[in-house]
Amino acid sequence: MTALVIVGHGTRSAAGVDQFTALVDRVRRRAGGDVADVEGGFIELSRPPLTDAVGALVGRGHRSLVALPLVLTAAGHGKGDIPAAMAREQERHPGLTYRYGRPLGPHPLLHTALEERIDAALGGDDRAGTWVALIGRGSTDPDANAEVAKVARLLWEGRGYAGVEPGFVSLAEPSVPAVLERLRRLGARRIVVAPYFLFAGVLPDRIAARSAEFAAAHPDLDVRVADLIGDCDALADLVLERHAEARRGDIRMNCDTCAYRVLMPGFADKLGRPQTPHDHPDDPVGGHGHHHHHGPHHHHHGPGLRPGQVAIVGGGPGPDDLITVRGKALLDAADVVVADRLAPRGLLAGLRPGVLVVDAAKVPRGPSMGQDTINETLVAHARAGRRVVRLKGGDPYVFGRGHEEVLACAAAGVPTVLVPGVSSAIAAPALAGVPVTHRGVAHDVTVVSGHLPPDHPESLVDWPALGRGRGTLVLLMAVDTIAKIAAVLVEYGRAPDTPVLVVQDAGHPAQWSLSSRLDQVGGLAERAGVRPPAVFVVGPVVALRTAGDGHPAGTGTPGDAS
Ligand code: SAH
Repeated sequence: MTALVIVGHGTRSAAGVDQFTALVDRVRRRAGGDVADVEGGFIELSRPPLTDAVGALVGRGHRSLVALPLVLTAAGHGKGDIPAAMAREQERHPGLTYRYGRPLGPHPLLHTALEERIDAALGGDDRAGTWVALIGRGSTDPDANAEVAKVARLLWEGRGYAGVEPGFVSLAEPSVPAVLERLRRLGARRIVVAPYFLFAGVLPDRIAARSAEFAAAHPDLDVRVADLIGDCDALADLVLERHAEARRGDIRMNCDTCAYRVLMPGFADKLGRPQTPHDHPDDPVGGHGHHHHHGPHHHHHGPGLRPGQVAIVGGGPGPDDLITVRGKALLDAADVVVADRLAPRGLLAGLRPGVLVVDAAKVPRGPSMGQDTINETLVAHARAGRRVVRLKGGDPYVFGRGHEEVLACAAAGVPTVLVPGVSSAIAAPALAGVPVTHRGVAHDVTVVSGHLPPDHPESLVDWPALGRGRGTLVLLMAVDTIAKIAAVLVEYGRAPDTPVLVVQDAGHPAQWSLSSRLDQVGGLAERAGVRPPAVFVVGPVVALRTAGDGHPAGTGTPGDAS
């Protein structure tokens, strides 16, 4: 026995939600002995959210589920969004396993249901004089569109209609008016428009509206719109069949024409890529934005994030609330978040369900290959019409490679928004009680990358000048090079007893700091086991330090070794 969670994508239509809920109840009533429990939830827009449905099943002791995407064809929701949402549920519930069911169609039960809806629209008029326009949702995924064409053919075979032609309400051709025009030219006098849709929603409403417009423009034609498949016994039984199939591990899904697996002309950008959240340009309010989750009185402040745009957002040094208000607003609007290792990772847990998180720390690393892959990822998601946030630690333009990403997007014609962040260069000393400037003590502060040692041929830093100076130095990425750097600074004139503070994991609960003097910091940092991320502050401001690592919740930490 396994529990079944039926996963819907969500809709703005109250009637659509009611039909989904009624279907879940019907499945529960019709379920046989191999179904232990049934819940239904949505990945976005509608209640209950998937996480509540899975939570309810886990709460009743289930650890092994069948997750069934309630979709007719395998496209973005079924291939990407729903598996991503389930992956998050597995993180939430350690030990949870699930088998993923395949999409509902094509299936004879569906074709019979469609035939019944068409017959109801015909009301006894003959099939031989009737053409059918079968209208699918439409996708950027050719495999999904091909499924609709296949169903059109299967619906025609043996049923006696004059013909069945596929069409799409969005994203794919032919459109509703285009397929109706095609049928008119073929000589059709009576046309039944059959939406290949499960439940009510904005797009089925649009099919009806486009059909009515076409009919009004062609009064000589008899154009009727059939009902949706809707909540019915046949659909419930098909859900149960897909459950049984998944339980047996018997998923006969045809992946031979999947653009993610096979090179298809014009779809090279999909090959070998993970499927990603899917943005339907025709969706209400411009797609899968977070707007739906706010009340009708919500207004955006600052610039919004449009589909196809990339926002390079500075997340601050951590904790999660040192991001700017603007950065957080864009993050909340994202369909895809590409997150750095040093980005405030706790923010990722608060993303809407359905948001794809790409972990840039897991991108395979070579000297430059990592960055190229990240750039390509940003461009590919933006070109697919998604709202992309590149979430970085600190400020994107302070040793963050943010401008490389902006340039890569610009080269690909992808618009970007840059949201500055609180840089660890300034914030890490501050969070440890050290101001980087102070009246009468330091009138300059220099932020330096220590990733190359001073004697490195590619170093662009004027180390002798820094040695001669008297202001504040903040060294980033210098854990491995601090001994050499300190020696060079002393060699060129900094006093050996210049105070130095190391701050590791600034802003995080594990924040830890160590004070030293310039001629001793190399050995001391090594013995104390300082690890990245850490900054070194060098200069007289360090002596001004107020006690302890100042956390919002208190002063100092047990780990403060200073
Ligand atoms: N763009 C980032 C810096 C990226 S370079 C910023 O503006 O903060 C990475 C370096 O930043 C690390 O090696 C470390 O020196 C520093 N750093 C980033 N986050 C830090 C943190 N929470 N605590 C201490 N140092 C940090």
